[in-house]
Amino acid sequence: MCFIDLDNFKNINDSYGHSMGDQVLIEVGKRLFGLVREDDTLARIGGDEFVLVIENMKNDTHHAEVLNDVLSAFEVPFIVEDKSFILTASIGVSCFPEHGTSIEELCKHADTAMYQAKESGKNNIKFYSKSMSQDVITRLVMENDLKGAIQQAQFELYYQPQVCLKTKKLTGLEALIRWNHPTKGLIEPNAFIGLTEELRMIITIGNWVIGQACQDLKRLQETCNFQGKMAINVSVLQLEQSHFIDAIKETLAKYQINANKIELEITESVVISNPKYTITLLNKLRDIGFAIALDDFGTGYSSLSDLKQLPVSKLKIDKSFVDDLPDGENDKVITQPIISLSNAMNMEALAEGIETQGQMDFLIQNGCGLGQGYLFSKPLPLKHLIDWLNTQA
Ligand code: C2E
Ligand code: MG
Ligand code: MG
Repeated sequence: MCFIDLDNFKNINDSYGHSMGDQVLIEVGKRLFGLVREDDTLARIGGDEFVLVIENMKNDTHHAEVLNDVLSAFEVPFIVEDKSFILTASIGVSCFPEHGTSIEELCKHADTAMYQAKESGKNNIKFYSKSMSQDVITRLVMENDLKGAIQQAQFELYYQPQVCLKTKKLTGLEALIRWNHPTKGLIEPNAFIGLTEELRMIITIGNWVIGQACQDLKRLQETCNFQGKMAINVSVLQLEQSHFIDAIKETLAKYQINANKIELEITESVVISNPKYTITLLNKLRDIGFAIALDDFGTGYSSLSDLKQLPVSKLKIDKSFVDDLPDGENDKVITQPIISLSNAMNMEALAEGIETQGQMDFLIQNGCGLGQGYLFSKPLPLKHLIDWLNTQA
């Protein structure tokens, strides 16, 4: 039983409209149909999901051959109305009788395997295994725990200082979420943000983050005379909400915060997934006064022509490119042009994850203006941040 799910198919619908999407699906169906034998069954079970049932296998390698044919089928672009679409698929497989003896079980396990194929980078095949079920259970438990987390005030924001590399003066703070789990202790965002996005919970959580960050910013302005910006990470799902702008304006009004004190951090992937929409939305936000920073810059594949159209005022150089500075050749040849690019485009460059003097010296020499990292400060809970700010004054 093979679950075949097209990767990033939504992009086609978003960019070219649903009728074009439908035609691409027809082409995919036709091509897959060309691969199956008379004994096999191919079905489209919804959206961009196909199921292939391979019966009466001749030998152990037979299914591998068929599956490789399926992946290879995607190597040739799909042509619709003179347009060429390059697609890939993620495939999850369960086998009778090892992975289940009922249709329900086989489907469930093929679906689990398909999700694993997606998670391990898409465009590949995964066979079901027992440990996957363990992952699924862990996930379900976390999903359940997340549901009560907001109401039970288990989330907390930590703040990491951003500084001018030359003067070491504080320029801003980045709000970073933490989850104080009642039994598991402090959980870092990388362990749960992805899941909250899949479950669309990030919309509610993100709203909470914006409200809390504004409330804390007000307090810092009043008690520590903090003048800098508050940087807030926003997920693409939040930006897709039609009332995003109205909601954030309302929050600002509630805490009497000026939009020019807020910087929204978005990742490159937001821009790639839907450039037209993003550019329009970001322009509106810029016009209201928000600053926009492009997070994790260099890890995606945004096109320079899209970048040029974005009202972005800051590029955040991902920590992975800072790690091996000043000696790592790869990191040098990546960070130098990013800094030059941002300077040429009138954007500020901010290097993340600076831990050593050597990294900092290299960045300063190459014209990087801003930095953030353990060398200056780890992300701190509000109370500790206030102490830190008082030592700086
Ligand atoms: P990010 O926005 O790129 O945040 C920077 C991450 O690098 C933070 O990890 C920070 O603690 C870490 N970092 C900063 N300096 C250093 C350093 O010198 N050394 C090391 N080893 N690490 C450093 P954190 O807090 O675990 O956040 C991870 C990611 O989770 C963030 O990456 C962001 O993408 C996401 N995230 C955090 N808070 C939120 C939120 O409120 N909303 C959304 N949508 N995503 C969030
Ligand atoms: Mg960030
Ligand atoms: Mg980052």
